[in-house]
Amino acid sequence: MSKKNVYFFGGGKADGNESMKNLLGGKGANLAEMAGHPSLRLPVPPGFTITTEVCTYYYQNKKKYPAGLKEEVAKALKKVEAIMGKSFGDPSDPLLVSVRSGARKSMPGMMETVLNVGLTEKTIPGLIKQSGGNQRFVYDAYRRLMMMYSDVVMEKAAGIEPKDEMGIRRQLERIMDARKKERGVKNDVDLNVEDLKYLCAEFKKKIREVLGQEFPDDPMAQLWGGIGAVFSSWNGKRAVAYRNIEHIPHEWGTAVNVQTMVFGNMGNDSATGVAFTRNPGNGDAAFYGEYLVNAQGEDVVAGIRTPAPINQYSQSEHNKDLETLERKMPKVYKELFDIQKRLEKHYHDMQDIEFTIEKGRLFMLQCRIGKRNGPAAVKIATDMVKEKLIDKTTAVSRVTPEQLDELLHPIINPAEEKANKPMAKGLPAGPGAACGMIVFTSADAIRLSKEGKKVILVREETNPEDIDGMRAAEAILTARGGMTSHAALVARGWGKCCVVGCSALEIDLSKKEVEIEGAGALHEGEWITLNGTKGLVYKGQLKMMDASSENEILNEFLKICDGIRTLNIRTNADTPEDARKARQFGAEGIGLFRTEHMFYGKGSEEPLFKLRKMIMSSSLEERQKAVGELFGHVKSDIKATLEAMEGLPVTIRLLDPPLHEFVPHQQQARETLAGSLNISMEELEKRSDSLAESNPMMGHRGVRLGVTYPEVSEMQFRAILEAAAELLKAGKKVFPEIMIPVVCTVKELTDQLDIAKKVYAEVLNKFGLKKIDHMFGTMIEIPRAALVADKIAEVASFFSFGTNDLTQMTFGFSRDDIGAFLPEYLKKGILADDPFQTIDQEGVGELIATGINRGRKTNKKLKVGICGEHGGDPRSIGFCYRAGMNYVSCSPFRVPIARLAAARAVLANKTAKKGKKK
Ligand code: ADP
Ligand code: MG
Ligand code: MG
Repeated sequence: MSKKNVYFFGGGKADGNESMKNLLGGKGANLAEMAGHPSLRLPVPPGFTITTEVCTYYYQNKKKYPAGLKEEVAKALKKVEAIMGKSFGDPSDPLLVSVRSGARKSMPGMMETVLNVGLTEKTIPGLIKQSGGNQRFVYDAYRRLMMMYSDVVMEKAAGIEPKDEMGIRRQLERIMDARKKERGVKNDVDLNVEDLKYLCAEFKKKIREVLGQEFPDDPMAQLWGGIGAVFSSWNGKRAVAYRNIEHIPHEWGTAVNVQTMVFGNMGNDSATGVAFTRNPGNGDAAFYGEYLVNAQGEDVVAGIRTPAPINQYSQSEHNKDLETLERKMPKVYKELFDIQKRLEKHYHDMQDIEFTIEKGRLFMLQCRIGKRNGPAAVKIATDMVKEKLIDKTTAVSRVTPEQLDELLHPIINPAEEKANKPMAKGLPAGPGAACGMIVFTSADAIRLSKEGKKVILVREETNPEDIDGMRAAEAILTARGGMTSHAALVARGWGKCCVVGCSALEIDLSKKEVEIEGAGALHEGEWITLNGTKGLVYKGQLKMMDASSENEILNEFLKICDGIRTLNIRTNADTPEDARKARQFGAEGIGLFRTEHMFYGKGSEEPLFKLRKMIMSSSLEERQKAVGELFGHVKSDIKATLEAMEGLPVTIRLLDPPLHEFVPHQQQARETLAGSLNISMEELEKRSDSLAESNPMMGHRGVRLGVTYPEVSEMQFRAILEAAAELLKAGKKVFPEIMIPVVCTVKELTDQLDIAKKVYAEVLNKFGLKKIDHMFGTMIEIPRAALVADKIAEVASFFSFGTNDLTQMTFGFSRDDIGAFLPEYLKKGILADDPFQTIDQEGVGELIATGINRGRKTNKKLKVGICGEHGGDPRSIGFCYRAGMNYVSCSPFRVPIARLAAARAVLANKTAKKGKKK
């Protein structure tokens, strides 16, 4: 027997069901479910679905249909006719149908639908009789059919590409507009029978004139024309483009649904509408929707008239004066209300529904899982768990990390954003929105923000010296740079709004002015608003909204995630403030505390000066003196953060960057330094020159400093252990993890461990303590270290993968210089993703897996984590989970996202395993 191509639904039965989306498309599967599932059996106009496989066949066989399709369609149509007691093409009592597209995944507005198919000169009188003599309705339906059919079937499906504004639909609309004008009416509904008859006649003429063909007056020709056009619309330009963006495979194909027409345009007791079982904008558990009296489905979406709210809850500024469906048709509303409740119970998710009311009778035309924004997704998932509608794993699977991200930042009030046109567009580098006054230098940003002003730092590009200004600003906007530029990295780390690479900007620093292509010049102090999630720049001060106002819900949701995840989530934090913030977000430790932080930014003058003395020392004696002076600063800095973490693990990394980074460049600073060291300027010059390196990233840094200057490591070990000891003595809890960076061989580590052991004994002795709980471990950020991880793990108690450097060294890409070629690599598909944003699982990932496996071979208890940028990237977190890490560490702002991503990683892995078993 040949394959079944046509699936019937109606009269309380259906051949298909909801699980058959691949074959019947989403629309067809859900129509079948609503019509035929024993616990639903909703009033769905009967019809049938031609499968997606027919579409595939059609394209593989030079647009021919499989054998037997015509017969199957005829048979299904007979069944529909039997239920309806009407026949397709019957002049005295005609059945009309819609021909609707419907792919596996919804592609809103991308494909075509034709309504009122089967209406011809011959069947018009029959329909008039059916409608109780409503000629207006019939001619309205006829002109709609002509508009849709000529556009979809005769023009688009025929491959005709008219010039702008010359499409047949536009041409017919112009005839209609002219008639309305002539008659002095505004709305379509105000046209009378005569007008509509006139339009039908004019439309026919126009169609003949423009397309050189008669509008088909045969019902069967219309039906098959419609079916073919829906299949063609699968490969329409818009649809193809949409699939490319959404990564929907082109070979899926669309189904075609042929369904009995019901009419929302039969008069004032008829209507059509769309609704959601919960508010998709904020997740409120309230029925929410709009409807139009005396209209056909397309009108609601087309925005021809302002739709009315279905109930009080759905009222807004725009529609508050219009009568609700609940008041206008209380009985129908009640029925609809009950149905939507049942639908939600049945599907266990928020539904988006289409309905039509024909002369007071309700029909369901579509249902599908409703799209929602971030705040709504979180609220709905959390509420549904409480309502016992879904379990916790389902809740977690329903919220994407991107959606959660929406909750963590202020956004522009959506209505305001809609009403304003952006003046420029750049790359969305830091999420959320911000508004502030333009400043052009970091110093101005700091100065004005101290005065309590909100500022946005506008720069050509930022560099590390802008850090304080960037901190002080509400947001950052740059004219150059990409998604991994300095500004982008820093802003993302802080969760700060940022737009980069906005090439429409022309900055004139001398005039403190920015010229924006197409929008004119703006000066310091003028307001702008940024949408960092989309990369948009607006003029003026747009209203903001705090999307995290439902924090209660957010926390509840994250607790659900915590119950599922197994990975621990830590944070990268260098200050007690960051540490506390991260703990509020749920961080369970610090995965990276960088000692060098104390030498940058606010309050850094003194320690920096002492560090510089240390760097510029040329003898052991000199250096020991400088190191001694530095000790107190390092200790108190570490102590404050250890204290803030109250016994949670804190991974403290020893001094990492190349020393010459700290060499002063300003004349005055150099003179003071020379004075303090008691050396001449020439001598200072000589010493600082000797520190210069041709490739500092691979130079004298990290553990190499500790090997060459053991006294520097010794001071740091002592600072860490004494800070811990003092806190222990004060009755506090602490757990420092000492981390050695840039290690490539085990011997570097033993070398350092020997120093650490000596210091540990001394500190115990000094404080009269028996022990200080702590760990000694290393970063794995050089490929060699990953390869010899078995040896390293004999000395290290933990590994922390520094994936930024590991990526740099594995690829041989300098992160700061990839701007020149990475965009091209991505465009050409040479790389699928920026490896600095999401872990390259194939290469870098292999090194990580090797490192973990080899490490655990010699040290079963080896603790493993990640502290690179990737620790906050959901896809990378999934990888870390599968690789068997114990924790990921990310910036404080990313902690909630990491909690969700870690829970989703558990679910994804389960599904993947199940899939394999099958
Ligand atoms: P889309 O997928 O673009 O929403 P649809 O196939 O759902 O396209 O149809 C477009 C509009 O026509 C919708 O408002 C729908 O409710 C309406 N419609 C489709 N089929 C019928 C029908 N048989 N009777 C009444 N209205 C219909
Ligand atoms: Mg629809
Ligand atoms: Mg590093």
